[in-house]
Amino acid sequence: MLKLQGIAVSSGVTIGEALVLDSEGFRIPRRFVARSAVDTELQRLSNAIAESTAEIKKNRDAVRGELGEQYAAIFDAHLAMLNDQRLQEELTSAVRERNWWPEYAVSRTLRRYAKVFQNLDNHIAQRAHDIYDIEKSLLRNLLGQRRETLAAISEPVVILAHNLTPSETANLDRRFVKGFATELGGPGSHTAIVAEGLEIPAVVGIGPFLADVSGGEPVILDGNQGVVILQPDEETIARYRLEAEVAETVAASLGQLRDLPAETTDGVRVQIRGNIEFPEEVEQCMRRGSDGIGLYRTEFLYLTSQHEPSEEDHYRAYRKVIDAIDGKPMVVRTLDLGSDKMLTEKSPEEERNPCLGLRSIRLSLRQLPMFRTQLRAILRASAHGDVRVMFPLVSTILELRQARLVLADVMEDLAEHDIDFNPKLKIGIMVETPAAAMMLDAFIEEVDFVSVGTNDLIQYTLAVDRGNKDVADLYSACDPAVIRLLKRSLDIADDAGVSASVCGQMSGSVMYTQLLLGLGLRELSVPAAAIPEIKQAVRSVSIADCQAVAKRVLEMNSARDVKAFLRDQKRRLLAETVA
Ligand code: PEP
Ligand code: MG
Repeated sequence: MLKLQGIAVSSGVTIGEALVLDSEGFRIPRRFVARSAVDTELQRLSNAIAESTAEIKKNRDAVRGELGEQYAAIFDAHLAMLNDQRLQEELTSAVRERNWWPEYAVSRTLRRYAKVFQNLDNHIAQRAHDIYDIEKSLLRNLLGQRRETLAAISEPVVILAHNLTPSETANLDRRFVKGFATELGGPGSHTAIVAEGLEIPAVVGIGPFLADVSGGEPVILDGNQGVVILQPDEETIARYRLEAEVAETVAASLGQLRDLPAETTDGVRVQIRGNIEFPEEVEQCMRRGSDGIGLYRTEFLYLTSQHEPSEEDHYRAYRKVIDAIDGKPMVVRTLDLGSDKMLTEKSPEEERNPCLGLRSIRLSLRQLPMFRTQLRAILRASAHGDVRVMFPLVSTILELRQARLVLADVMEDLAEHDIDFNPKLKIGIMVETPAAAMMLDAFIEEVDFVSVGTNDLIQYTLAVDRGNKDVADLYSACDPAVIRLLKRSLDIADDAGVSASVCGQMSGSVMYTQLLLGLGLRELSVPAAAIPEIKQAVRSVSIADCQAVAKRVLEMNSARDVKAFLRDQKRRLLAETVA
């Protein structure tokens, strides 16, 4: 049994069969060969061995020519291993006797060999790398064109991957993917956010571990604690099964809050809205008693589609949401592509620092036809409910003015063609950069609402990449610099009588509920799964107590102190709710 610690990003506990996707993206499920197909599969295996042998020989000859015999010897060692009679017999018998799929046989057998080397405490341990190289070469040749996409998963699995991009995650089939864990990834990455939206338990940023696991092995993934357990024993499996059952009971009891208002003990009504990435999520929000949609991340329309969405594609998606929310508000955020949400892989030379590059509103303002298409669809949808539009990552007032001009122009166009829309639709911005927070007193004159995007605000305030596991400990909503910018933003909005919400992940965590209410926040936008818990927290506190919490926090000057204090407050709150 091997227990790994990573970063918990999407809650829930799951137990299932591992599907391993290494850095080259190989999928190696435990698959069996029909008896009648054994000979064909063995032939495929032997072709792959021959192809790998030829590749290694070619590399050896090239290296010998360039660097001499001494270096070429490395490849001789690979050749000797690959053509080792015992290894070949083992592989053949795994396919013939156990009916293992050749890919599975290669992965299982070679990883077992590699482990033997790894356990030797001397320079021989390095040999394990050679075995992984051979495994990769064989898998490449075996899978060839057959490398399937993640979308083709058709049986329940827990994905263990080197990394998953936000768009890969958005395309996962929730019916079969029971959870995922990755070597890379940070706490605020969009991969994490999508996992939460899809309600798939997830752990990221574990560091290297894929060499310790083979496809098909049982794995426990605890998205609450950020723990992954490989090769678990029976006792541990039983313990986690019980935990999952208890969690279900708690969720069912929280479900009873659905029709109760989010009102503090001293009678202050708080709006709790949902964050969504896909129109389908609106049902989960409404089922949990949401006061509308506070953030619709529309860029996922692009990330889940093979072609650029048309005006009709946008319109259909927005109608689906607005028609499902009973006159409640829907805040549509215009495209927030770029940074970690790329349509295509860019080379580092193209954009060396994508989160400081051409993303969000900057990109929309450069790609006007695409932007106008989206705005037309949003405006058309506004004829059917309380649709509001919000611009992401605004960092200068000129960007806001430009975006408003484009919107006004699109409105004129629609009016000329007698197409219905709401000419008074509310227009807002996200406060996601220190620049926006510092200049908010100017911005506030030109908007109807603001929403603080703490995910990016943390990243840009603290200069910490939200998707990088190596600086994950610095990425914290508890940092006093972030809290002060947040307070400043809420105060300015309040003074101007403009409504303000927080839609970053922070607002979906009970640990921050008292602080946020104490800072004056009355509108929260949270992932659907968090709605019941946040509502329960709101219903258990008084504004006076929350103000006392905020006051204490504002006196602190380190993230560590704030975190310890808020954790303690949360523990007390939960203890009182249970009592
Ligand atoms: C944010 O930055 O807090 C936010 C809500 O936007 P996203 O997470 O999509 O960047
Ligand atoms: Mg953001």
